[in-house]
Amino acid sequence: MTETVTNWAGNITYAAGELHRPGTLDALRSLVAGAARVRVLGSGHSFNEIAEPGAGGVLLSLAGLPAEIDVDPAARTVRVGGGVRYAELARVVHGHGLALHNMASLPHISVAGSVATGTHGSGVANGSLASAVREVELVTADGSTLRIGRGEDRFDGAVTALGALGVVTALTLDLEPGFEVEQHVFTELPLEGLDFETVAASAYSVSLFTDWRAPGFRQVWLKRRTDQPLPDFPWAAPATEAMHPVPGMPAVNCTRQFGVPGPWHERLPHFRADFMPSSGAELQSEYLLPRGHALDALHALDAIRTTVAPVLRTCEVRTVAADAQWLSPSYGRDTVALHFTWIEDTAAVLPVVRQVEAALDPFQARPHWGKVFTVPAGVLRERYPRLDDFAALTGALDPEGTFRNAFVRESLGLR
Ligand SMILES: Cc1cc2nc3c(=O)[nH]c(=O)nc-3n(C[C@H](O)[C@H](O)[C@H](O)COP(=O)(O)OP(=O)(O)OC[C@H]3O[C@@H](n4cnc5c(N)ncnc54)[C@H](O)[C@@H]3O)c2cc1C
Repeated sequence: MTETVTNWAGNITYAAGELHRPGTLDALRSLVAGAARVRVLGSGHSFNEIAEPGAGGVLLSLAGLPAEIDVDPAARTVRVGGGVRYAELARVVHGHGLALHNMASLPHISVAGSVATGTHGSGVANGSLASAVREVELVTADGSTLRIGRGEDRFDGAVTALGALGVVTALTLDLEPGFEVEQHVFTELPLEGLDFETVAASAYSVSLFTDWRAPGFRQVWLKRRTDQPLPDFPWAAPATEAMHPVPGMPAVNCTRQFGVPGPWHERLPHFRADFMPSSGAELQSEYLLPRGHALDALHALDAIRTTVAPVLRTCEVRTVAADAQWLSPSYGRDTVALHFTWIEDTAAVLPVVRQVEAALDPFQARPHWGKVFTVPAGVLRERYPRLDDFAALTGALDPEGTFRNAFVRESLGLR
């Protein structure tokens, strides 16, 4: 059967003429064992060729497997199948009175695909979504199964692994007691005089948004846990209407604002789980750099804002706590993440992406693995001190390179 398989944004059409959807673990294992090249497609929300197996390769979806979500309330953990999305997981976890520590802006993305790329939310004390993973279950290239748990030497290479070690069939995540969050939106925060550290730490999760049409931020979103103090935020005015991060878009698709308390999973994402965007007329890029460089990096972007603004829909500034995953963009450093939602015109956007990368180059920026970037392998090698360890791990678990596609080989400089 031939079908056209694209990513969510529609800017990537996969060469594979078929999306394989095995219905059992055994069927998945035989499919992998009999294939020369395999990549898994999660929910397809990445904006580059990270999931592309290449011509003749097998593109695999786990959507046909049972959507396992097994909560262990005593251990405060959940074991989740490799095809499950955050929205489904969050509903079940919440039903047990428990919570994930953080979520990304969109709840529709798959758990395995998100942790594979180092996906994150915001908060100076909140690690990436992968930082909650305590065990990963894989089907490796010969079709055998393997569990790698926290505490093992290779664990820190095995979670944010870009899909390069095997098919992730399940993950076990840490949970915490459930909590409530209020969302407060403020408008017009100036860049001049910005005390970034204080602003970023003023609530559990903080996002700044700008269209770079002027210096400073059009919106500030504070997500306050109701068990933490109410932030004093004297630097900007409270919003008088509900807002969408992209100017001109209806706020009806966004999670509840105006300080109305609600469960963690209905406030930590910006977008509502019951609003399902089937495709997006946009591209995205994101660069993660040491948080201490935040202000200098924002001024560097301000210096090129007349180049950036014409192809930009919105730019979001978040923070991520340091983690230990070798390929995580927040590996080993407390991070500021500078995100760009672009218009959907690749030809117009790419030259601006290069200018943004040049502006952020002095700050040791690492690109988000799931978004558009042009940073070459030589530069990435300097910015990922554990790359050789990861190369050794892929060599040990996948000697024939079944899961190493062109994206992985070229980005990481692997054979
Ligand atoms: C609207 C939108 C909002 C976003 N918001 C955020 C955000 O707030 N924060 C952020 O950091 N990022 C964000 N992203 C980026 C997104 O989180 C990443 O691209 C993420 O990887 C998407 O997960 P996915 O399942 O769609 O992965 P895919 O794009 O399908 O795949 C990504 C990678 O994961 C691998 N993979 C997926 N499933 C498996 C599996 N079971 N086993 C092995 N490998 C697997 C794939 O092979 C591929 O290498 C956003 C993207 C969109 C479109």
